[in-house]
Amino acid sequence: MQKNTDKSKQNKRILMIATGGTIACGHSEGGLTPLLSSEELLSHIPDAQKLCQITTIQAFSLDSTNMQPCHWLAIAQLIEEHYWDYDGFVICHGTDTMAYTAAALSYLVQNTRKPIVITGAQKPIDMEITDAKTNLSDSLRFACCDRAYGVNIVFDGKVIAGTRGKKERTKSYNAFSSINFPYIATIQDDHILFYLDDKDRSTGDLRFFHTINEKVGLLKLIPAADAGLFDYMAERYDGIIIESFGVGGLPSYDGKDFYDSIAHWTRLGKTVIMATQVTNEGSNMSVYEVGKNIKKEFGLLEAYDMTLEAAVAKLMWILGQTKAPEEIRRLFYQTINRDILWKA
Ligand code: ASP
Repeated sequence: MQKNTDKSKQNKRILMIATGGTIACGHSEGGLTPLLSSEELLSHIPDAQKLCQITTIQAFSLDSTNMQPCHWLAIAQLIEEHYWDYDGFVICHGTDTMAYTAAALSYLVQNTRKPIVITGAQKPIDMEITDAKTNLSDSLRFACCDRAYGVNIVFDGKVIAGTRGKKERTKSYNAFSSINFPYIATIQDDHILFYLDDKDRSTGDLRFFHTINEKVGLLKLIPAADAGLFDYMAERYDGIIIESFGVGGLPSYDGKDFYDSIAHWTRLGKTVIMATQVTNEGSNMSVYEVGKNIKKEFGLLEAYDMTLEAAVAKLMWILGQTKAPEEIRRLFYQTINRDILWKA
């Protein structure tokens, strides 16, 4: 049962969870490293308490390069423990793996009517010129908005579905794009302009998940890629995502190599997902001879319009729930937090 969260903005209770990232960085001898506490972060937004009542938690202090699935589970656990005490959640996170965490939270916390916002910055919050203050105050504003719900990234004035974000720029403030999906909203000063209406709101029951299988590997193809790499990975992982070329296909230089490897490992129950290394528009293995037959013959799954980050997080989540091939297929093609539109 959902509690009523319809209250005036100032009365909204927001839990801000700090995890590190550039937003909280300071200089150390070894280079930038997260040093600021959650309270110190918040002290840079003096108007924040006018917006809402904020409680902060320091979950970890990590460069997001070091984020692992155990950290995704810990963040989801914190949200679950405090879910009924707050109206919204803001997670401060490094930008490098933010898209993975946002996707993972989309699978670990499903059908949330309360907003879960992930944000960060390209520059530390205590620098004179920084995007951090805008990103954090935008995130708090969005988390207080009655129309906001679900897991989203808020960054550079854009609200991006948690499964659709991708870091596409290493230095500029507009680091994140929404891939194969429109922005949910934009935020300018104190105004939130929604592009997607509430009618899209999920009606399923709120659900938290507690298991992930991190034995998922990614093989990016290059010309002359050796199928032995696939064998090596398939020995170690339960699921392999192959980042192929264009709409999708597998090389067969001497007429057999990838074909034989995939035949062998799928027979042993490994899950293989075909994805594309082209960022926009997604895969469609059924177009070319190099893709169509092999997909059909071995029942390979396909990421279609999903981001790679979402495909990785979704496969880890699914393999944490089941080993049954039909259930893996059903869950992979089920739309969760707007992650996939194109269906098999
Ligand atoms: N290396 C940093 C991190 O991901 C980069 C950032 O936050 O912008 O934690």
